[in-house]
Amino acid sequence: MNCLVDPRKLLEYDFGPLHPFKIYRLGLAYGLMEAYGLTTGPSIRTFEPREATEEEALNFHTEGYVEILRLTDTGMWVPNLFVHGLGTGDNPVFPGVYEWGMYVAGASIDCAKEILAGRAEVAFNLAGGLHHAMPARASGFCHINDGVLAIHTLLKDGKRVAYVDIDAHHGDGVQHAFYKTDRVLTVSVHQSGHTIFPGSGFVDEIGQEEGRGYAVNVPLLPSARDDAYEKVFSQVILPFVKTYDPDVLVTQLGADALLGDRVAGLEMSLHRFEQCVDAFHGLGKPWLALGGGGYDVENVVRAWTLAWARMNDVDLSDDIPPEWLTQAAPYGIAVATLRGERKASASPQRVMDDLDRVIAKLNDTVVPLLSGPAKT
Ligand SMILES: [Zn+2]
Repeated sequence: MNCLVDPRKLLEYDFGPLHPFKIYRLGLAYGLMEAYGLTTGPSIRTFEPREATEEEALNFHTEGYVEILRLTDTGMWVPNLFVHGLGTGDNPVFPGVYEWGMYVAGASIDCAKEILAGRAEVAFNLAGGLHHAMPARASGFCHINDGVLAIHTLLKDGKRVAYVDIDAHHGDGVQHAFYKTDRVLTVSVHQSGHTIFPGSGFVDEIGQEEGRGYAVNVPLLPSARDDAYEKVFSQVILPFVKTYDPDVLVTQLGADALLGDRVAGLEMSLHRFEQCVDAFHGLGKPWLALGGGGYDVENVVRAWTLAWARMNDVDLSDDIPPEWLTQAAPYGIAVATLRGERKASASPQRVMDDLDRVIAKLNDTVVPLLSGPAKT
């Protein structure tokens, strides 16, 4: 059985008309899945999000931060917002901002619980993956770190977790949460912090104390394109995760690394994105999948629909169902095909050379430290 979070309850929240984070894309993505027949069937179950409790949020966030966020829920201004990264252009306070964060987190935690209970092999919360939120600070459009809270749920049950983040931005909040433990392997492939927010995720960030060797970062130069991703998967992600041999795989499937994104410039094709999802599926682990960034709505809805299809071993036709096009038209969306015509070209040599240096460094630093579960 595979579980999908039905995000439609979340569509009442809104970061504002000028903000690049468009919550309505969740409804359009779910609508496209529905139009392809991917929300019903004997092996598919959907469920609605519920709000995470304050107690659950405190597994990562501080009491002071959660309290301030709760006070801003009316969209009102309260003192000390800036200290907590709130009320900025990136992390606005809007009516229901606390509920929004808590619903997304509750859904990811429930996905983890479904996996733990053996009721789901794959659970997908496309609203999740808000990977930048810090213990006492909102950051990068992320208020509550649902991924960290879901992983905590898995850890409390004694599981070892591999978290792989293919969002264009470094998964800094999740790395921060588990930087000193070997119970979670974090792997983030992203656009180099020299060129994009949040300015971290360099190859020499490999974890500390018990966690040394269990944080992996693959920064890519802009215009990385498909060849670079192929190499990152075949030489880093797959072998490292196989060595670690986790009980549960958690992935952050941000769609902002795709060609045409308005924020990032990594230029991955939808064909490659689909192959990334297949590669995760091929690991054969219980799998909690989260969404993430993505600022070209046409890309996001197609990427996550393709992802959910591949999670269910469905090979979708490239022809978009016409009823969905009608639903999407008011948003100015008119896509011709599911995978798109825009196939990214080969990766530039400077990208591949730089990547070779990164991989060589990881082979020197992380590989000797990384090991699988203790044999008892
Ligand atoms: Zn991102």
